[in-house]
Amino acid sequence: ALQATKLHKAFNNVEVLGSVDLSIQPGEVVSIIGPSGSGKTTLIRLLNGLEQLDNGEICLNGKSFLKLLKYGADKGRLVRNQEHQTKIGMVFQGFNLFPHLTVLDNLLLAPRYHKMGTKAELSMQAYQLLNKVGMLEHAWKYPHQLSGGQQQRVAIARALMMKPEIMLFDEPTSALDPEKVHEVLTVIEGLAREGVTMVVVTHEMNFAFKVSDRIVFMEKGRVVCDDSPDQLKVRDNPRVDAFLKNVS
Ligand code: ATP
Repeated sequence: ALQATKLHKAFNNVEVLGSVDLSIQPGEVVSIIGPSGSGKTTLIRLLNGLEQLDNGEICLNGKSFLKLLKYGADKGRLVRNQEHQTKIGMVFQGFNLFPHLTVLDNLLLAPRYHKMGTKAELSMQAYQLLNKVGMLEHAWKYPHQLSGGQQQRVAIARALMMKPEIMLFDEPTSALDPEKVHEVLTVIEGLAREGVTMVVVTHEMNFAFKVSDRIVFMEKGRVVCDDSPDQLKVRDNPRVDAFLKNVS
């Protein structure tokens, strides 16, 4: 389980997250929704250690993942657990594939570096994952030869190569042409149905309501609601209702 407690984050002295709590249990699919600038991306980047935490704690399976030392000589220093870093997979809005590597080598780079198997084992795993996301026939291409939707499916397969305990998706379809959104959401939905634990920052409300166990609604750096989709619909929170009316 991933447990974030009282997360605080400011950029240039402007508070972006104020005391955010979030817990993700194994097998859960959690969507994070909310207006632009509410801190969704910052939160998910904090969970993966891509942003420095100002205050609070993030634990993976009860062990601190990122922690600010409050006492002693190292007071104020941020401690990151390297071992945990590989257990959290991340998929970015902008795909972030390595442009100079083929699709296959994009998948193999990190697991080879972390010595997660023999060359043959890792190649087999890579082909299986590429097949799963419908990209097997493109294994030898370079990212620039692929559409955005195809690149994002490769990025998902690449993250899965590390056998993460949790997958984090940061607005995975918002950089895509509208007709490519569906193919990527279908892949993510398939993973959700398989029981992959995931947190998805998204503006795709149909997807969020269909696939999520919980939907977290953020506004101005705070969690306003953390509910099941059914509860959220009947909760009668004017801010959430106004948001949902605007985006649907
Ligand atoms: P969107 O839905 O538009 O992506 P969001 O909810 O994901 O928005 P964030 O991207 O987390 O929101 O941004 C929250 C606030 O933090 C915004 O006001 C943004 O301008 C600010 N912010 C984010 N990253 C930085 C940064 N590196 N430096 C300064 N300000 C930042």
